[in-house]
Amino acid sequence: MKPRILDLSYSEVAELAITLGEPSYRADQVLRWIYSGAARSFDEMSDLPRAFRRKLNESCRLFTLEPVDEKVSKDGQTRKVLFRLEDNKTIESAYMLYEATESSRERRTVCVSTQVGCPIRCPFCATGQQGFERNLTAGEIVEQVLYFVWLTRGVGQDGAALPPARRPLTNVVFMGMGEPLANYESLKGAIARLNSKTGLGLGARQITVSTVGLVPQIQRLAREDIRVELAVSLHGATDRVRNILVPVNRRYPLARLIPACQEYLKMTGRRPTFEYALFNGINDSLDQAQKLAELLAGFPCHVNLIVGNPTPGKGFRPSVPRRVAAFRKELTDAGVSNTLRQSRGADIEAGCGQLRSRRLPNGA
Ligand code: SF4
Repeated sequence: MKPRILDLSYSEVAELAITLGEPSYRADQVLRWIYSGAARSFDEMSDLPRAFRRKLNESCRLFTLEPVDEKVSKDGQTRKVLFRLEDNKTIESAYMLYEATESSRERRTVCVSTQVGCPIRCPFCATGQQGFERNLTAGEIVEQVLYFVWLTRGVGQDGAALPPARRPLTNVVFMGMGEPLANYESLKGAIARLNSKTGLGLGARQITVSTVGLVPQIQRLAREDIRVELAVSLHGATDRVRNILVPVNRRYPLARLIPACQEYLKMTGRRPTFEYALFNGINDSLDQAQKLAELLAGFPCHVNLIVGNPTPGKGFRPSVPRRVAAFRKELTDAGVSNTLRQSRGADIEAGCGQLRSRRLPNGA
């Protein structure tokens, strides 16, 4: 199989250029076309010698994801794309527009998948319900981002630009299908390409890795050169409750997870956020709110509360507004920094815990 160019590091692309009889600086030209020029084929790279473009076509693959279905939420601010991979497996990714508020700027965020299915099997999550099929490569992860880069430039498959058009992406979040830290090498490669000046050039603060709490990998991430933002899906303030929602808690209980997050802050200077999806009668009691405040007491972190989305998981219903408000008040009164996040794209099943592989439109 010919190598996928997005799977190659900068130095590997330079080596490829040399192997094909060109100087190494051709790597910069090729990568500039891919990441800045939004080129969709080697043939579009007009300042490369024609013979080199032919050799590139013969020796490697450029893009391999095929968008087969797209859905836009009623408010027009979330777009979900179903991609077919080369082996006919499917993944979903989403683009979300967050309008500016008094305290935050407008954000144009892509949520990418890192695995087909997921081995963690959280029972409330649609991805977890489908089981694990395979890891994505770094290139397959980066290509999801590039697809939305093209769309924001009005060069989408259907020619439609995303609102607001021609404004670059501001953030990439690894919060789609799969547990990113369970596919560490691909994650690391994707972050490098997104962050690098020879790649997309996104700042490390614009990249967020979300995890259910794989402690050794959090510790490893803390030691990487690129200091990305860390979001930890907590969903329970005690091991008893967290064991229900996040089975990996049995392996990495709170007594190990919270110190690992504190270590992340110490090593990187990045304040972790804790995601807490509220499910009715499961983890949204005042007792859990109090326990959460105790757990995080003195830890400079932030809690994002999200009302859980309906998914195929049995017995997991979204928390009702009265319980959400009471939970939040308890946290706020205890001095825990928190936000109630809007769940985005739930009407097109693009919300938290709703992405999954789907049958292709032709039924394959
Ligand atoms: S919530 Fe995340 S880690 Fe858990 S099953 Fe879903 S994708 Fe996997």
